[in-house]
Amino acid sequence: MLLAARYVLPVATPHIENGAVLVRDDKIIEIGELDRLKAAHPEEEVRDFGLAALMPGFVDLHTHLEYSAMRGLVDDLPYARWKMQVLEKEGRLSPTDWEDAAYLGALEAIESGITTIADVTETGSSARAVAAGGMRAFIYREVSTTDKAKVPAVLDAARADIAEWGDLGGDLLTPGIAPHATYTCHPELFLSVAEMAVQDNLPVSTHLAGSREEYDFVKYGSSPFAVDYRDTYKIGELGWLPTGVSPVRYVLQWGLLDVPSLLAVHCTQVDDADIEVLAKYDVAIAYCPRCNAKLGMGKAPLVKFLGKGLRVGIGTDSPASNNTMDLFDEMRIGLLLQRAAEGRQDFFVARTFVKMATLDAARALGIDDKVGSLEPGKQADIIAVDMSHGHQIPTAYPYSTLVHTANQENVLFTMVNGVVLFENGDVHTIDRERASSRAEEIRDKLRG
Ligand SMILES: [Zn+2]
Repeated sequence: MLLAARYVLPVATPHIENGAVLVRDDKIIEIGELDRLKAAHPEEEVRDFGLAALMPGFVDLHTHLEYSAMRGLVDDLPYARWKMQVLEKEGRLSPTDWEDAAYLGALEAIESGITTIADVTETGSSARAVAAGGMRAFIYREVSTTDKAKVPAVLDAARADIAEWGDLGGDLLTPGIAPHATYTCHPELFLSVAEMAVQDNLPVSTHLAGSREEYDFVKYGSSPFAVDYRDTYKIGELGWLPTGVSPVRYVLQWGLLDVPSLLAVHCTQVDDADIEVLAKYDVAIAYCPRCNAKLGMGKAPLVKFLGKGLRVGIGTDSPASNNTMDLFDEMRIGLLLQRAAEGRQDFFVARTFVKMATLDAARALGIDDKVGSLEPGKQADIIAVDMSHGHQIPTAYPYSTLVHTANQENVLFTMVNGVVLFENGDVHTIDRERASSRAEEIRDKLRG
């Protein structure tokens, strides 16, 4: 199939006007000008999207599909109180609710041009949803306990799930493990996860240095995480010794940075010494600009991350926190926040953010040899984005149009591994009506 559009954005190389991408089976075969490719392959079916951009699918570097039914549920609380409210509501959901919420999340992701997700889950619902949806995914099994005695059992359960999920999605699904956060994990759990990840070569993800509340808890033993949170979940009696160090240094001391591949999420509360540590251990970072801003978690020092050569991609962190899985919004708000805060010296351009949402995020996961850009030989994870609306024309520079005028509803077409998942407004792999009626039912349960 020859996919064509006014603009083809390979991302790794300059864009092509009136371009096309030749796809055969699951691979990209050739990229170039439409006229030339048509002449060279006269038998090939042509699919022309007109005034649109063909680009690599988005890699959402951090999400929780199964939180999709919690969209808008807790919109106006700072991080620690938001987290406690969400945890309180979670208890009302049945296993089927989690599963259906994850399907809703996969539906939204596919419609929004997301072809790869890095998802954190304890239930495994998102593993099943992405396998059914046909997406590419890293699914990290979340683990947490503040009780040292429970660490072996927690890890055994995780090990069993990881083995099962590995069989679900074939080559498209890579399982990993995710110790939740500093305030929910006993240090012994960090040590044991690190040991397991080294032994089994498992990718690891963790929420790290994501809020002032977390920072104050780890370093000084204060903040709602030291009081309300531990009282509510009856973990206060186990006690907590303030460590006197930052969250990054804390997990460093408990071995977590020794794993072969660590993806740290948020990292808004990091100083220069922390960034040196992250760089030394080649930790990848999920930048979640909208979630960080909405929950008052702070601003990640992106200029410094990129200056140190850290691998950084963009994550949406699920509709429970920022309401939509819209990578366009993430790119736009992420870029504007950085420009507003940094001023002129470190002025990010639109193309940097498109790269961060595609190729750089693939690098963060270590799969940039397969996806993240449009290049012959890579897997065909491709999307088409409409640029023909009144608020988008005339287009001057396609990267700017994408970042400054587009949104998830402009996505026309989503292909993963050469398979069309979304076209003409329909997702082929997930039942939209069921997903939306179940979302309403789950919402009723969560209300109040
Ligand atoms: Zn998260």
